[in-house]
Amino acid sequence: MDKNRIITIANQKGGVGKTTTAINLATALAAIGERVLIVDLDPQGNASTGLGIDRKSRKLSSYDVLMGYNTINEVAMETAVPNLSIVPSTMDLLGFEMEISQSSDRAFRLRRALSTPEATGYSYILLDCPPSFNLLTMNAMAGAHSVLVPLQCEFFALEGLSQLLDTVDQVRRTVNPLLDIQGIVLTMFDARNNLAQQVVSDVRTYLGEKVYHTLIPRNVRVSEAPSYGKPAILYDLKCAGSQAYLQLASEVIQRERRRKAA
Ligand code: ADP
Ligand code: MG
Repeated sequence: MDKNRIITIANQKGGVGKTTTAINLATALAAIGERVLIVDLDPQGNASTGLGIDRKSRKLSSYDVLMGYNTINEVAMETAVPNLSIVPSTMDLLGFEMEISQSSDRAFRLRRALSTPEATGYSYILLDCPPSFNLLTMNAMAGAHSVLVPLQCEFFALEGLSQLLDTVDQVRRTVNPLLDIQGIVLTMFDARNNLAQQVVSDVRTYLGEKVYHTLIPRNVRVSEAPSYGKPAILYDLKCAGSQAYLQLASEVIQRERRRKAA
């Protein structure tokens, strides 16, 4: 049995709530007492900024880990959330793809870095991906146990989801046969919007139990939090968005218990 659970948060679309989910799910898991690490794999570095790690303080980054220059713990920085650390991102990541595209282990750089005893010191490792199927996302999918997909409740949601599931199948055939679907979480849900209701029901019909019961509501407090360098859960614990992320974390943990028991 694996000592930790490595979950990649992926969706090829930008702005669907990947980073928000990474930050707040990680915070909620840490609050329950799990030791959690986020690896920021997006050159934009929103997860790093959103956890209060400003650019100037980032000396090393996920780039150095991918390149094999440094270990996870050499690069990981503590955040204001107890039990939550982050391997930040820097713009160096933009060069990774070009520098590494010819090397035969190009998809396995992160897996190698995460298969060290250091990585087992964290019970959950969440990988925040860029909004595309590039080599960074490929490294995340190759290095993870599972994929958690944030899906925005909008018209093209199902189309995007089936593309993503095709990609997961392709990853299973090539670099990671054991890659699991951790779950689908519906984000930015607005109950007043009929289309959003329809999307929820379609996604549930299509994917059944894989879809979390928790719906993350569209909530202005959630969108304000990153500008204060805080997870929504620290910025405003009582708001509906924070409460939903706490509920999501408890669903994730329940499923993990069931999976381990099976
Ligand atoms: P991604 O990482 O997929 O690009 P983000 O998590 O950065 O997406 O979210 C995109 C934008 O939407 C950000 O400005 C974020 O603050 C906002 N956002 C995310 N989730 C919510 C929510 N539940 N309610 C309101 N705004 C949200
Ligand atoms: Mg993001």
